[in-house]
Amino acid sequence: MEELQIAEIRERLLQMRREMTREVQQSREASREIGQDGVADIGDMSASTYARDVLLNLSENQRQRIRDIDAAIDRLDQGEYGICLRCEEEIEPRRLEVRPFSRYCVECKTEVEKFGE
Ligand SMILES: [Zn+2]
Repeated sequence: MEELQIAEIRERLLQMRREMTREVQQSREASREIGQDGVADIGDMSASTYARDVLLNLSENQRQRIRDIDAAIDRLDQGEYGICLRCEEEIEPRRLEVRPFSRYCVECKTEVEKFGE
């Protein structure tokens, strides 16, 4: 992979990471606000518990995404970027275009989702 391309991908990954970090912070703050919303009647309480759970799940996904992005940057540094971690074939460029932090090619991704890693 060419230097220029590597620099471009790295920049994109870092940009995504910044956005994701900001979102995690925002949802953390939002869930804290919901958590301190005083004690209203039971109907309100379950609604806010639900909202908080949604936000916590969301931020868990985002944290996972940040880990994926970090791992992709590592692979970029090691010259292993764009190689499927499972079958070691090259990941389709179009897939990397959409998800630059992809760890697997499409086939492996499908298998991993079905059978686990
Ligand atoms: Zn694969």
